[in-house]
Amino acid sequence: MKIRGVLLDLSGVLYMADQVIPGSPEALARLRAAGLPLRFLSNMTRYPAEHVRRHLAELGYEIAAAELFTPPRAVRGWLEAENRRCSLLVHPRLEPEFSGLVADEADVLVVGDAAETFTYARLNAAFRRLMQGAELVAMGDNRYFREPEGLSLDIGPFVHALEYASGQTARVLGKPAADFFHLAVADMGLEPGEVLMVGDDVESDVLGAVRAGLQGTLVRTGKYRPSDEDRLAGTDAWVADDLAAVVDRLLQK
Ligand SMILES: [Mg+2]
Repeated sequence: MKIRGVLLDLSGVLYMADQVIPGSPEALARLRAAGLPLRFLSNMTRYPAEHVRRHLAELGYEIAAAELFTPPRAVRGWLEAENRRCSLLVHPRLEPEFSGLVADEADVLVVGDAAETFTYARLNAAFRRLMQGAELVAMGDNRYFREPEGLSLDIGPFVHALEYASGQTARVLGKPAADFFHLAVADMGLEPGEVLMVGDDVESDVLGAVRAGLQGTLVRTGKYRPSDEDRLAGTDAWVADDLAAVVDRLLQK
């Protein structure tokens, strides 16, 4: 099917840490020139969206606020569509992203990557909200990520602790949840089958998108490992050396 919109992962596709991936800026410019609507998908919930945009701008990528599709944005949209209010277990610097939607007796508990603010007291207060009937919504399910000093716990272990204690299963609004991809696709006014997701994480980006009915491409940059390609067997997903090669194929040059 013809591709009418593209979802792009950030880290590992556009840049790695503080280094631009060679060819990606030019490839992105060609995608823009072709007039394809784009959304940039990040599971980052430790920092607000503006922080992510500033980092991209420092690397030379100008991304409009409307193009950055993050879990807080997906959760906001979901809360507004459902006319629900929430309480928060998120990093304090993320709280402004939920302004107007927080209420003391809310029946939704939103969990983000609260990092060093995941204290026993805050986790226990969240657990009590769940036991009083609040619905658990998680802005991701990732197990860990790499920092300069080593591997670090991501949001997933904390979400699973709350699931374990409460007996609930979280509604995940972040990659690789189908709901998250569908919200990003709807944000472009398109159908899943006409949208391509490009990422370096075979599970979170590519298989997540394919399971949600999108098309998927794995790039051999970022966290890519050759064994990842085996996991795509039996799917229509394809593999490309980098974003430049993806755009070559999309624009058939
Ligand atoms: Mg990535």
